[in-house]
Amino acid sequence: MLIDSHCHLDCLDLNPYGNSFANFMREAHQQEIGYMLCVAINLESYPDMYRLVEGYRNVAISVGVHPNERDAREPAIDQLVSLAQDPKVVAIGETGLDYFRSEGDLNWQRERFRTHIRAAKAIGKPLIIHSREAKKDTLKILDEEKASEVGGVFHCFTEDWETALRAMDLNFYLSFSGIVTFKSARLIQDVAKRLPENRFLIETDSPYLAPVPFRGKPNYPVYLRCIAECIAGLRDVSFAEIAERSTQNFHTLFPQTSAG
Ligand SMILES: [Zn+2]
Repeated sequence: MLIDSHCHLDCLDLNPYGNSFANFMREAHQQEIGYMLCVAINLESYPDMYRLVEGYRNVAISVGVHPNERDAREPAIDQLVSLAQDPKVVAIGETGLDYFRSEGDLNWQRERFRTHIRAAKAIGKPLIIHSREAKKDTLKILDEEKASEVGGVFHCFTEDWETALRAMDLNFYLSFSGIVTFKSARLIQDVAKRLPENRFLIETDSPYLAPVPFRGKPNYPVYLRCIAECIAGLRDVSFAEIAERSTQNFHTLFPQTSAG
């Protein structure tokens, strides 16, 4: 069994599944995707996302507003805390900084990031971090806001070993997406190889970032197997070991997901 620690189930193209979310879930189950964390990107689409996965006990959710959602409704700490009181919500995010896709004065991104960290600490749930071309400020803000109290995960980790060490120092896990399967991803593969076995998660980030051999196509949680196989190869351990380890790590980071 594998756990997809980061996907956007409400954004999937369900066409290959006869436009049925139930069909999709059945197929995912048959292909041994035992659990999924469906990650929110804004508050506008949150209620629909919630309704979509509400009936599935092997799907958890997060609540938050993505740093690339510039025009989204700005969340308040109280609002995030109140939404996160729901037992279905296991994390705050995705949140963080993206200096690649946004331009101009990005103080709004940093303020929004701080809001999420404060909410996570108030509710005692871990953070899901998105960081792109912004590692210095991401680490600085996590440090200043004492995010290590709740920890969390750097999703779709694409930084170097030094950043990995700093993230782990701050009580964060690293999650690997399909990017680790790309030939050009030497830096990330190096991190996947050296990382302690109790610090990594795996994810698809569906519908984005399909792994090799599906690169450039829409992504689905069932492709998680390609990512687990790649990491098993890099670390020279069995697929079963990667499956077991990443599953354990997921339940340790998100303890709410362990109960039955
Ligand atoms: Zn995402």
